[in-house]
Amino acid sequence: MSEHHWSKTRGERNRDAIDYYRERSKAPGVAEGGDARNFYCMECDGVIPWDDFEGHACPHCGAAIDGNTRRYFNWVEIDRTPASDRTALFLALGIALAILGGVVGIAVLVLN
Ligand SMILES: [Zn+2]
Repeated sequence: MSEHHWSKTRGERNRDAIDYYRERSKAPGVAEGGDARNFYCMECDGVIPWDDFEGHACPHCGAAIDGNTRRYFNWVEIDRTPASDRTALFLALGIALAILGGVVGIAVLVLN
């Protein structure tokens, strides 16, 4: 690394960030590299491959992986609809269908 690299020219101002990235570099699977869409274990910071990963636990430490939330290098992404939202959607759909059924039932009774 050159003497002009930001981590050296800014000295102590970025100490926390530098320490954080040094620790991330030691996480399981980081040294081996990976694909563009890797995500990371919430517990051990280990690399988890995105495309062909089908398990429910970290391959490095065995921590459970929440299917709705993925931790990437600089952000966390919630990529699926939480179950509570699905329940609310189905409940609203059920109520709409019940009202529609009631209206159709009344129409049938009135028209006959
Ligand atoms: Zn892990």
